[in-house]
Amino acid sequence: MGLPSATGRNQGGLGMQTLLTTEAAAQCRNCHAVNGIDIVAESFRAYIEGAANVQEAFPSLSADHRELLMQVARRMRGEFHWYLCPECWEKMGEA
Ligand SMILES: [Zn+2]
Repeated sequence: MGLPSATGRNQGGLGMQTLLTTEAAAQCRNCHAVNGIDIVAESFRAYIEGAANVQEAFPSLSADHRELLMQVARRMRGEFHWYLCPECWEKMGEA
């Protein structure tokens, strides 16, 4: 009768169980270094689809990683994107 419930809780929350992850990567426009980050695939999709903003989808990420994701999302939407790696950001700040 019941649903085939394997190992317990799948309540659709943002738990810390074995969630599928995906890699988001972007190449720096200046030095061409590629930076990537492993993120929860479902959170990323929610963000790409506009269901959550970057802070809601990834509350624990650093500002650098949020910037990376924002640029990857723009690229995936076909929008203008301009990713600079953290080192190049710093160099720009010094210039
Ligand atoms: Zn760079």
